[in-house]
Amino acid sequence: MTMTIEMVKCACADCVCIVGTDAAIQAEGRMFCSDSCANHHEDSAGCEHGGCPCHG
Ligand SMILES: [Zn+2]
Ligand SMILES: [Zn+2]
Ligand SMILES: [Zn+2]
Repeated sequence: MTMTIEMVKCACADCVCIVGTDAAIQAEGRMFCSDSCANHHEDSAGCEHGGCPCHG
């Protein structure tokens, strides 16, 4: 079985995470690594990825 997974950077400006298009959260036509990034950290939660500075 062959799968092509493209890796893209999370659309959150402060986020350094790279996410596969398969696993990405899509919102507003952009790809995010997590729900927190997708909702612009409304709840001030980080993306839960170690070493990532984004908290909205
Ligand atoms: Zn992140
Ligand atoms: Zn992110
Ligand atoms: Zn973020």
